[in-house]
Amino acid sequence: MSDLDAHPAVTECRSVAGDGAVLEFFEARSVPLGGIRGMRVDRVLPHRSLPTVGAWCFLDQFGPQRTDMSVLPHPHTGLQTVTWPMRGEIHHRDSVGSDVVVRPGQLNLMTAGHGVSHSEFSIGDAPLTHALQLWLALPADRAGIEAGFEQHTELPRYERDGLRATVLVGGLGDAVSPATVHTPLVGADVELAAGTTANLPLRPDFEHALLVIEGEVNVAGTPVPAGPLLYLGTGREELTVSAAGDARAFLIGGEPFPDELVMWWNFVARSHEEIAAARADWEHGDRFGHIAGHGAERIPAPELPGVRLRPRSRRPR
Ligand code: MN
Repeated sequence: MSDLDAHPAVTECRSVAGDGAVLEFFEARSVPLGGIRGMRVDRVLPHRSLPTVGAWCFLDQFGPQRTDMSVLPHPHTGLQTVTWPMRGEIHHRDSVGSDVVVRPGQLNLMTAGHGVSHSEFSIGDAPLTHALQLWLALPADRAGIEAGFEQHTELPRYERDGLRATVLVGGLGDAVSPATVHTPLVGADVELAAGTTANLPLRPDFEHALLVIEGEVNVAGTPVPAGPLLYLGTGREELTVSAAGDARAFLIGGEPFPDELVMWWNFVARSHEEIAAARADWEHGDRFGHIAGHGAERIPAPELPGVRLRPRSRRPR
């Protein structure tokens, strides 16, 4: 999916690294997707005071909602997109020649690097769709790599004591995803059967956060409802999770991301000039290739704001 907000805000970037183990809630924002009737997403990343968790820099939850989702061709730079449908199927096409259907339990991982464009459409007549869209910021020395696409229909599972985690990227215990990523990180869909208490193995050098999607999960003694992102900080070797009823959550984590990022519309960069150049290239039909099966239809870039886009200096909250 895309950041379709017609007036995207400049994202402030501040570091929260160095806090150690914490439990802090970040409320979701309901963001209307401009131009598409009735579509909204719940966005928990980036947050004003939590720009990244590891290299994870964007986390939207869409649905569950009956809708015809049609996201026309649009560009990305400097990131990887992680598309994770939980209900419904999504038809993905991109400028590196991919034309695939992604189904629940399967991972679409698109690397934008220097530049890619793609489109995403739901399949069927107003199907029930529920999906996560996440972005991973590429590190500075990989931000301009060649675009690419991977679909993973089989993913490893970490299973213990009524907990079943599907590992999309990175590793959880002995379950390691084959997906190509560029910084040390983890992303996993964690299902808990009713009555489960289990431990998730974590890397203490990572910071982590958990988004409860269905039901309620007790995390290290704190009841966590669906909706807000629970930031867990660093320094944890394991996380005790339990659920009285069936529950589902998404775990993200990684080495605290060192770079100051400028995020605007669908671009991740490190300067105003990089963003402005990407926007101009999209508007002029350069850099982002062509998507087979599409004509001239596309999502136009919004106007740049009247101020210079700047990364915030990193400082503790
Ligand atoms: Mn997109």
